[in-house]
Amino acid sequence: MQSQKQFKRRFSFEFFPPKTPQGKEKLQQVRDQLAERGPDFFSVTYGAGGSTRERTIDTVLTLHQQGISTAPHLSCIGATKESVAELLDLYRDNGINRIVALRGDLPSGMGAPGDLRYANDLVAFIREHSGDHFNIEVAAYPEFHPQARSAEEDLINFKRKVDAGASSAITQYFYNADSYFYFIDRLEALGITLPVVPGIMPITNYTNLMRFSDMCGAEIPRWIRKQLEAYGDDVESIRQFGIEVVTRLCERLLGAGAPGLHFYTLNQADASLQVWENLGLSPSRKIAF
Ligand code: FAD
Repeated sequence: MQSQKQFKRRFSFEFFPPKTPQGKEKLQQVRDQLAERGPDFFSVTYGAGGSTRERTIDTVLTLHQQGISTAPHLSCIGATKESVAELLDLYRDNGINRIVALRGDLPSGMGAPGDLRYANDLVAFIREHSGDHFNIEVAAYPEFHPQARSAEEDLINFKRKVDAGASSAITQYFYNADSYFYFIDRLEALGITLPVVPGIMPITNYTNLMRFSDMCGAEIPRWIRKQLEAYGDDVESIRQFGIEVVTRLCERLLGAGAPGLHFYTLNQADASLQVWENLGLSPSRKIAF
C-alpha cells in the first residue's frame, strides 16, 4: 500500500443520467446535497453502445456548469473513432478535463465491437487525439474482471491501460478490503504506482445488490448476505447495517492509505452522505485516521 500514500486524497460521487423529468429533478436535489460537501468531482455514466449519449452529455454539462468539476464516463465498445473524437472535442470545448475511459459491455447479440476493442485502445486514442488535455481514469478490479482469463492476465491488461496513458483508476466495488490491499501490492510488484481510488457501493437494497453483483463479478461476503437476508423487508435495518458495514470498510481503506473514495450513489444521496458524515469528511474534510 506504500505507493498509494503519496497521492493527495480525492473524493467523488457517481451518477447515472436520468431518463425522465422527475429523475432530473431528483438528481438536482441529490447534486445540491452532495455539492455542499465539497467533493473533488462528480462523474456521469455512459450507457453501453452509446445508448445514453445525449443524456450523458446533457447531465455532464449541466452539472459542470453548476460549479463542481464533472467527468463523463465514455465507453468505446461499438463506437467509431470518429464518434469518440467528436465527444472528446465537445467535452474539451466545454471545459471538461477528466474522463472515465471504459470498454463497456454490449448487450448480447447487439452490434459489432467497433473501432476500439478494449479500454487500453480507448486510452491510447484519447491521448493521440487530445494529448494531455484529459486526466484519464480507468476501471480497476481488485476481485478481477468477470471475463478475465486469469488473474495474471487481468493485471497485465490493467497495465496496458496504464502504459497507454491512464492517469488514475477507480475500482469496481468490493466489500473485502484485503482484495484491494492485495491488488495494490500486485501493482507495486509490476512497478505501477498510479492512484487507485476504491469505488464504494452503499448497501440499501438486498435484491438489487445481489443482481448487480452477480453481473459485474463483485463478491458479497457470506456474512453480509446472510445478515441482509435475515432482515427480509425491514428496510431500516438493512439501511443501518449497510451504513455500518460500508463505514468500517472505508475507515480501513483510508486508514491504510487509500487515496480517496468514489461513491456509486445510484442517484441517491442519503447512504453516501451518512457514510461521509461517519467518516468525518465534512465540512473541512479533516480525516481522523
Ligand atoms: P477493459 O479494461 O478493456 O477490460 C475488459 C476485459 O478484457 C477484462 O477481462 C480484461 O482482462 C480484458 N482485456 C483488456 N484488455 C485486453 C487486451 N488488450 N487483450 C485481451 N484482453 C483484454 N460500464 C458502462 O457501460 N458505462 C459506464 O459508465 C461504466 N462505468 C464504470 C465505472 C467504473 C469505475 C467501473 C469499475 C466500471 C464501469 N463500467 C461502466 C463497467 C465496465 O464497462 C465493465 O466492467 C466492462 O466489462 C469492462 O470495462 P473496462 O474498461 O474495465 O474494460
